[in-house]
Amino acid sequence: MIFRQLFEPESSTYTYLLGCAESRQAVLVDPVLETVDRDLAAVQELGLTLAYTLETHVHADHVTSADRLRSLTGSKVACPEMDGITCADVGVSEIAPLDLGSIRLQPLFTPGHTDAHHCYLVQLPASVQVLTGDALLIDGCGRTDFQGGDAETLYRSIHEKIFTLPNDSLVYPAHDYHDRHVSSVGEEREHNPRLGGGKTVEEFVAIMAALDLPYPKKMDVAVPANLRCGATE
Ligand code: FE
Repeated sequence: MIFRQLFEPESSTYTYLLGCAESRQAVLVDPVLETVDRDLAAVQELGLTLAYTLETHVHADHVTSADRLRSLTGSKVACPEMDGITCADVGVSEIAPLDLGSIRLQPLFTPGHTDAHHCYLVQLPASVQVLTGDALLIDGCGRTDFQGGDAETLYRSIHEKIFTLPNDSLVYPAHDYHDRHVSSVGEEREHNPRLGGGKTVEEFVAIMAALDLPYPKKMDVAVPANLRCGATE
């Protein structure tokens, strides 16, 4: 499998490029409008064809380049089916994975940051990697105070769908604000300050309630735009 982790600094978003080495088909997971040219160049330099863009959830901090990439390349827009986004071409769910040549992106329904959030599990020959979106971050997690978020629900999603994976599964989050790139399920289960080391659901709910985070700067623009697959009106 071809794999690249691409960073957008304004929203500190990681976009992931996954490509099948045989079919040369590629998917961009959580692509950002501002970096559309860079991401497309990466696809082309690797000799890949962009078959899909795929979202983990409806983002509040950046606008997706899904619609723009569809216009430029003919790629299909894939989103969690549960989001009910009418401009999407493909709806994914736990029973409807996204196949890309020999690669399967297996959706894991992980609500709590948003009510329809999905992570994507990729089984490699010798390991597992999971694109955790804004559910589980390195030493953190997504906020739970907007978009149908709920701390208790996020706790259960992470414990039931991610912490049950093998310890050496690689964790690739949708954001990092401290220049970290990858973690593992074992590391997060042990050391994540919000969720690890056996923290109870009550402890986690109290931590999330005390965060006192600012209102997301771009939310009023980004959420409506992302419900249009990132198309400008
Ligand atoms: Fe988010």
